[in-house]
Order: sequence, then structure tokens, then C-alpha cells
Amino acid sequence: MAKQKILVVEDEALVAEDIRDTLNSLGYEVADVCASGEAAVARAEAGGIDLVLMDILLQGEMDGVQAAESIRRRQGLPVVFLTAHSDDATLDRAKMVGPLGYVIKPFEERELQTAVELALHRHALERSLRETQHRLTTTLKSIGDAVIACDANACITFMNPVAEALTGWNRTQAEGRNIAEVCRIVDEERGRPVESPISKALRTRRVATLEAPALLVDRRGHRISVDDTAAPILDRGGELFGAVLVFKDTSEKRQMEQALAESEERFSLAVRGAMDGLWDWNLKADNIYFSPRWYEMIGVDPADIPTTAEGWFGRVHPDDRDALKRGVDEHLSGAESHVECEYRMRHDDGDYRWMLCRGVALSDEEGNAYRMAGSQTDITGRKTNDVLTGLPNRQLLLDRVLHAIERRRRSEEFRFAVLFLDLDRFKMVNDSLGTSVGDRLLAAVGMRLKSCLRCVDTVSRVGKTLARLRGDEFAILLEDVRGVDDAMVVTKRVQEELARPFDVEAHEVFMSATVGIALSDPDYDNPDDMLRDAAMAMHDAKNSPDASFVVFDGGMHQRAMKRLRVEMDLRRALDRDEFVVFYQPIISLESGRSVGFEALARWQHPDQGLVSPGVFIPVAEEIGLIVGIGKFVLNDACRQFRLWLDQHPDSGLEFVSVNLSAKQFAEEDLVGQVERAVADAGLEPHHLKLEITETAVMDNAAHAIEVLQRLKELGTRLSIDDFGTGYSSLAYLNRFPVDTLKIDRSFVMNMTTDKEKLTIVETIIMLASKLSMQLIAEGVETADQQGLLTKLGTEYAQGFLFSRPVPPSEVATLLSEDKSW
Ligand code: C2E
Ligand code: CA
Ligand code: CA
Repeated sequence: MAKQKILVVEDEALVAEDIRDTLNSLGYEVADVCASGEAAVARAEAGGIDLVLMDILLQGEMDGVQAAESIRRRQGLPVVFLTAHSDDATLDRAKMVGPLGYVIKPFEERELQTAVELALHRHALERSLRETQHRLTTTLKSIGDAVIACDANACITFMNPVAEALTGWNRTQAEGRNIAEVCRIVDEERGRPVESPISKALRTRRVATLEAPALLVDRRGHRISVDDTAAPILDRGGELFGAVLVFKDTSEKRQMEQALAESEERFSLAVRGAMDGLWDWNLKADNIYFSPRWYEMIGVDPADIPTTAEGWFGRVHPDDRDALKRGVDEHLSGAESHVECEYRMRHDDGDYRWMLCRGVALSDEEGNAYRMAGSQTDITGRKTNDVLTGLPNRQLLLDRVLHAIERRRRSEEFRFAVLFLDLDRFKMVNDSLGTSVGDRLLAAVGMRLKSCLRCVDTVSRVGKTLARLRGDEFAILLEDVRGVDDAMVVTKRVQEELARPFDVEAHEVFMSATVGIALSDPDYDNPDDMLRDAAMAMHDAKNSPDASFVVFDGGMHQRAMKRLRVEMDLRRALDRDEFVVFYQPIISLESGRSVGFEALARWQHPDQGLVSPGVFIPVAEEIGLIVGIGKFVLNDACRQFRLWLDQHPDSGLEFVSVNLSAKQFAEEDLVGQVERAVADAGLEPHHLKLEITETAVMDNAAHAIEVLQRLKELGTRLSIDDFGTGYSSLAYLNRFPVDTLKIDRSFVMNMTTDKEKLTIVETIIMLASKLSMQLIAEGVETADQQGLLTKLGTEYAQGFLFSRPVPPSEVATLLSEDKSW
């Protein structure tokens, strides 16, 4: 370590020499010896000194105390006084200078050393303290918040420039004053003085903040919003030392908050109004803004309705349109103070909803209306009658069912039933003949049902309520039935009545209805449950091939729960890699060799083992999961097939078939997915055959033809699956760019015993050959079937007779064994 440099100020030369020797021997370096105060001040100024050892009594103008004072002030050097006297007055004066030690002459070596070391140490300490303080002050000065510090008596000891600006006081004026004088705080509401957090902090010795929004009154009396926080400063012993107050100008924030509160209020108004649709019509440009809720109320996508008057009025029931237009005109002409009108609007589900529309126009200075805005409220619920048929609506039916439930509570004897009716294939009428024919048909069905119920005489004492629920769903409440038989009699009667053709707008339309029946016997608590069970029974009937009605029973509920379970498990299955793909060979009947494979999905359920697609595919389709599963199967099939081609180049394999569901067909990117799957696997597009059912195609024929066309252009093969079970629309078949028909296995399986089935098979074979399509017979289980199919000239077959669907590892075995049938 470098030696400390000491300046010795001593006017007696001998003493000075003595001191120099002593210091040297103690390991210090004597930088210089001065004999006068003036010389010492000059020398200190020159620098290179760590400490001054100063004799108090010096000859010359300046004595040691004066010299020390000057040196401390200017260089801040530590000074240790040397003195022979204990002259109290001089010593007192010396103290004022704040020296860092005294040594009384004559002194011992140790005394001198101690005094010098102590002085150097204290000096170092002071310096670091000063630096810290300096850094702190600079920080406080530069931060964006106002900072005021005060001592334990609340007298200000410091304030930063932001505090100066906000209070209007400058630091020198403020220092020493009570904080309450400089920093006056009043409450925002009434302007009454409130206790400043700093005095609270001093009082409670805890951090304190303002409790309510408050204002700071500055020196000129201006008020600004502030938020204050004060913290007490305690020393290590817990003694209160002072407090600091930090605050900032929150005027801007307050304004924003106020604006926010206002807009929130507006918002909540809007939310309350959100049950209503809002519209804002620029009359000059004929452009209308419809709120999201407006669209939602009629179930349409904003893109599907032009934002013009025509877009709106076009959706209004033709019978109500004129009244609405008249209402608008009367207001615009000034005859009415506002528009208020009830009308029916077509919902996307095909039904009409009753709407109440209110609006007012804004006019310019000349009194010309340029804008009109208002709301639209769905008041269907307020109407107890269905718009289209005039029958009671769902609400009214539920009301009556509730009454019946209550009546049953009072009397065990009383029984009732709910019939849930759903028209079969009603959608087809709508799609093929248009919604207006659909509407008329529904009205006609309603009338037919009504008159039929009127004359169901076998159960004459029964009270009946017929309601239209929505779309093509109707319900009948039968009160006071003797049992399920009564309900069944009515059901059959209703179905017979509906079977007679309807004559709608010059079309003869045949209708049928599927019915679900729920009985009051297991006691119901609420009408919704009963309706739900009746609906569930109806669905059951729809799914069964030969029942046109089903009576609800508890087992149905369990089945529904089971299905729910499947659904829940299924949602996780894809992420957990629970799907595998099995392959079933497709055989050339001529050569007996496999020409291709059909990829069939399997679900490896963690508890239930292999689940058949018959169980999970319908659920997956319903919940949209089929898209992901389908993609997985597609990729797997392409990859596997590439592998088999590579391993068995001479096997004569032509294609791998992959089933596509209707949902996948609706996917935007289906063609892209197929293209990538083929390319990624390194296949030629003609290696892939896509199987689509007629139903999937017919769901949206126009779109399907386009997609099929693009798949065709890509070069993949296309096949119609389960041919013969769907629409079998020959007109369409011609327009589908498909190259293969697969005869459904229901025909193949029965053709050796059932003449009619055989005829169908023969017809399909002929059809395929006329249209130059390949033909695959599915579900071949016996040699008889194989023989017959061969005789009829079928090219390809697939079925358990040859092989069940097998995992890929077994396909490899089939191929390597060069198996032939
Ligand atoms: P599908 O496309 O008609 O497939 C043929 C079904 O018939 C397969 O049932 C197959 O195992 C079965 N089968 C084949 N030969 C015979 C036979 O000789 N006798 C009998 N009784 N059945 C035979 P699987 O694998 O249970 O598939 C059922 C349906 O599930 C398929 O009918 C298809 O519609 C659907 N499916 C299967 N995998 C997929 C898939 O990856 N995607 C889509 N979208 N649907 C799939
Ligand atoms: Ca298939
Ligand atoms: Ca099939």
C-alpha cells in the first residue's frame, strides 16, 4: 500500500524535525513541512496530501485554526491539531473547524499514530458517506416523482426539483419549514384539509398513503391531483429519524380514470342494450352498421348480409316488409316522432323470429334526415304463438308441461306424455325446393297435425297441446292418458296422417315424421328434462333402421352418457397417439392377388382395447375431430404404401384407399392436405384412392363436385363408397369425376339368397361398365359370393373371405408370402 502523505505545519524547526522522524519511523511519508499557516494553505492547494498535522500556534497572520479551516473547506482534507496548550478558548475555536483529532504536546509516538490513523479512518468514512449522499440526492433529483424528506419534527430537510415544481416552493425556501405549510393537501370532494401521509407516517411510524383521491394546494393556490405515499425513516435502534414523502401529479391519470368510468358507464348501458341488436343507418350512402348482436340474433355471418336497407328488409317476412318500410317513411316525413315496428325476421335456422324495432333519425340544419339509428329486440319469447304455423311455441308448451308436472304431484292417478316429432328429410325439401316451399310445408304440417289431433277419438278425454318447437320439430303434450298405449295410438295416427302427400305450391311432397315419447311415470321435476328425454327417444328412433317411434327409457340415458364418455376420451385420443391404422387388402378376382389396401382407422383405447370405427367415427364426425383423425390416417396410409412399394416392387400393388368424411370434405385445405401427404411420402398421386360416400357428396353437391374436380386434377383416384345405400342419384353420378364404385356390403352379403339384392348388384355392375368405372365388391365373406361375383364380371373384391383388416406388420407378411386367393 502507498504510504500516507502528511503535511506537517510547525514553526519550530527542531520540533518539526522531530515530528518528521517520528512519522517516518511510523511508516508515513512527510510530504512537506511548512512553518506558517499561509504556506500550509498554499501547499495543501498544490495537492498530494492525505492529512495535515497542524500546530495551532503559528507565527504570522494566520494561525493554525484559520489555516485548518481554509484547508478543510477547500480541499476537505483531514486535519489533526498539535497543541501545547490547553487554552480553552483556542480549543473551542479549533473544534468549530471540525478537525479529526488532537495531539497534545509533548506526545508519545503511539499517541500520534493513534490520532493520525483515527483521523484518516474517519475521513474515509465521511467521504464515502458524502458520496452516497451525493448519489442519493442526484437520484432523487432526477426521478420523476416528487420527493420531500423531513426530520422527526416534520421540518423539511430536502426536496427534489419535481417537488419544487409541484409545490411551487424552492428547496432553500422550504428547508426548515413544516411540511404541512409547504405541502397542503385537501380532499377532492369538499376541499377540506386532510392529514398528509407524512405526518401520519411520523405519527404511526408506518408507511402511509392517502385514503381518498386528494388535491395538493400549491403555493399559488392551484390544486392538482396527487397520490402520496410516505414512509418513516427509523435508525437502527428504531429511533424515529424523519420521513420521506413521495408523490406525483396524477391529474392526467385522474382525467383518464374519469373518462374510463364514464365510458364504462356507457359500456354497461351498451351491455344492457346488448340483448338488443343495434343499427346505425347512413341514409345518404344507404350504408347500415349492424352491431354483432344484431347479426347474432338472426344467426348470420356479417359477410352474408349486405349492409344496406335491402340487406335488412330482405330478411324481413314478406308479409311484414311493407309495414316496416311504411314505419320508416312516416318517421322520415315527420309524421311520426320515431319508428316503432314489430315484424318477423328470418333466422339462419330457417325459422322466423319476432322483432321489435325502434329508431330515430338525425337531421341536419335544413331539417333533412341524414342518419337514423336504433335497436332491434327479439320478442319471440313474448309471443306464445309460433310465427309460421300459429301453433303454440316452445315456451307455451313448456308452461303447460310444467302445469302437468305440478298436477301429477298432487295426484298419482294423473299421467301425461310428451311426443317429440321430427320430420324426416325436411332439409332436402328446403334445399331442393327452396325455403319458401319449406315454410309452406311446415305450415301445412302444422294444420294437418292440428286437425288430426282434434279427431283422435280413442283418447277423447285426453287434453292435447300441439306446439312447434323450431325448424321441423313439433311436440304434443297429452294430458290424462291411461298409459303408454294411448301415447302410441296418437303417435301412429299422427304418422299415418302425415304420410298422405302434401300439395305445396304445385309440388306434391311426401313427408314422414319420427317420434320420441316420454311418459310422466318416472316423475319429472322440470319440463325441459322431459322434452329432452322425448327428443333423445326420437333420436334413437332415427338411428334405428326400422322404428318410426321410440318410448324413452332409462337405458337411453345411460347410452347417452356412454356416448358422452366416448366423446370425452376421444378428444384426448389424438394427442395421446391412440389411433392406429389397419389395412384390408383389395383383391383382383382375376389374378387372386392384392392390388391395393383400404386404410381403416382403429382406436387403441387405454382401457377398452381396440374400438371399432363404427363406434367412434360418428362421434368424431359430430365433434369435428374426424378432420384430425382423417389427416392422421391419410399420412399413415401414404407412408406405409411407399414402404410396401419399395419392399415389394413386383407385387403389382396399385393403390391405397383412404376414407374421407363429409366434414373433411368441407375443409378449406383438403386438396392441399392430400397434395402434401402424397408428396411427403414420395408417392405418385395415382397411388392414392379417396373413398367418399354418396351422402358426403350430396350434403353439398356443388362444392363437392368442385373439390372432386381438383382432386382429380391432382391425379388421385376417387371412389364412391357404400354405393347403393345413399341417394344413388344417377344424374349426379355422371357429373362426379369418380373412377370407382364400391358396392355396399349389404347387397353382396345377401345376393346369394335375396333375388332383389342380386338384381341390384347386377345393375350396379352394368352401370359401372357403362360409365367405364372400376368396381369393387365389399364384404365378400363366402366362396359362393366370390364365385357369383366372378361370374358377373366383377373385377375387384374385398372381404373377410380374403382377409380382415390387419395391422401394417401383417400386411408386410401377406406381401412377402406373395399370398394369392
Ligand atoms: P367402410 O369404408 O365401408 O369400410 C369397410 C368396413 O367393412 C370396414 O369396417 C371393414 O372392416 C368392414 N368389412 C370388410 N370386409 C368385411 C366382410 O367381409 N364382412 C363384414 N361384415 N365387414 C367387412 P370398419 O373398419 O369397422 O369401418 C367401418 C366404417 O368406419 C368404414 O366403413 C368407414 O365408413 C369408417 N371408417 C373407418 N376408418 C375410417 C377413416 O379413417 N376415416 C373415415 N372418414 N372413416 C373411416
Ligand atoms: Ca371405405
Ligand atoms: Ca364401404
